[in-house]
Amino acid sequence: MTQHSAQTPSTSPGDGPARDHRVVVLGGGYTGMFAAIRLARRTRRSNVRITLVNPSPRFTERLRMHQVAAGQELADIAVADLLAGTGITFVQGRATALDPGARTVTVAPTGADGAPADGTPVTLPWDTLVYALGSAADTGRVPGAAAHAFTLDGIPAAARFSARLGEVAAAGGTVTVCGGGLTGVEAATEIAEAHPGLAVTLISGEEPGALMGERARAHLVRALDRLGVTVRSGVRVARVLPDAVELSSGERVRSDACLWTAGVRVGPLAADAGITVDERGLIVVDATLRSVSHPRVHAVGDAAAVELAWGRVHGTCQSGLPTAQYTADTVARALRGKKVKPFRFGYIHQPVSLGRHDAVIQFTHPDDTPRRLWLRGRAAVRYKEFVSGSPVPSMRLSRRMNVTATVSRGGRRTRTPADPAPARVSAA
Ligand SMILES: Cc1cc2nc3c(=O)[nH]c(=O)nc-3n(C[C@H](O)[C@H](O)[C@H](O)COP(=O)(O)OP(=O)(O)OC[C@H]3O[C@@H](n4cnc5c(N)ncnc54)[C@H](O)[C@@H]3O)c2cc1C
Repeated sequence: MTQHSAQTPSTSPGDGPARDHRVVVLGGGYTGMFAAIRLARRTRRSNVRITLVNPSPRFTERLRMHQVAAGQELADIAVADLLAGTGITFVQGRATALDPGARTVTVAPTGADGAPADGTPVTLPWDTLVYALGSAADTGRVPGAAAHAFTLDGIPAAARFSARLGEVAAAGGTVTVCGGGLTGVEAATEIAEAHPGLAVTLISGEEPGALMGERARAHLVRALDRLGVTVRSGVRVARVLPDAVELSSGERVRSDACLWTAGVRVGPLAADAGITVDERGLIVVDATLRSVSHPRVHAVGDAAAVELAWGRVHGTCQSGLPTAQYTADTVARALRGKKVKPFRFGYIHQPVSLGRHDAVIQFTHPDDTPRRLWLRGRAAVRYKEFVSGSPVPSMRLSRRMNVTATVSRGGRRTRTPADPAPARVSAA
């Protein structure tokens, strides 16, 4: 088990609680990393000890996994480097069991690629837990998807798919992308652009870009057409076979490699621990993003079921980073005995890359419905690159100052039937 301490945690006797307050952040993706760094900054003069748990020693820029699939190299960003100077302890490993009663988490060792490795698990005690385990492609609902489809779940998975694409392209074969959401569209266009000789079929229940306004959607459809992507929309995948995708009509679409982007699922850790989760396994939170069953557990990002006045927040980086920022600030305020306000959030855009040379940005109302304003072409490419590239510099800057990840303040506040009013949290 690898443990790095970027710096000895500061403790100042007489300033705050008598013993260290132990915060464990599970998951070092966009939200866990941002929450940990911001909390370290906010509590730097108090005796708060923060530990971050992540299976890989490398930070995964999940927003760019379709680029890895298309054969592009990403910057190698070490978790330890992002945490340098923060005082946060990094424990490399995978959380395998959570005991909210005893307030412990068991962490099993992992290797350099984040996969399970030999070694003895460790048990980490915590006073406050930040649950930021994200989500992964849901390959469990359609037979054959888990066995035969590739995913974009991390760099090793995306790199495996990339290698297979090279083989299929060399043989003039066909790749299918199942799922016509924005991730599927980004993957299909990126692949088609990188491999002009490859036949790419996008299979989707809905029209690609269905949530966008008419003009932005038309641009997206034109880009798919220009790049030669065949779109099969309004169909359901019934089965994934080694060499085909079978539709519910019984028709088989040839597929030498299948990428699965149709829906996401979360891991069972929270549900197995008896924490209240929704029908998809996401932690049900109150207006301050604490678990409704275990208030010392704060959930952020894709793993949290956040209900706003206009409805459920869907898992994106755009909404996840504000949950991380809010939680870091909330825990820090609670430790100082201060009141906290309910979480607020509103969407501002749907940014979609269409290969490296085109993109489309649909600006939105806080509830993610489209506004009239949209962008395409070069301006959209630059905008999208700024969106994808900004989280890591924001994290680096957060080590020294309070950087805001909340791009919109226009959204309505969180709402839960049980807890409609501004609340005070008890994280200590
Ligand atoms: C190709 C692609 C493109 C996308 N593009 C966009 C976009 O343009 N805009 C947008 O807003 N969103 C986009 N998203 C969605 C976005 O990436 C997610 O919403 C975001 O990553 C969620 O952040 P998170 O911190 O909750 O989860 P993640 O970033 O997935 O981080 C979770 C972390 O937890 C770790 N982990 C998992 N299980 C364990 C365990 N048991 N123990 C310890 N650690 C564990 C994981 O290894 C990972 O490091 C895209 C997603 C994909 C796949």
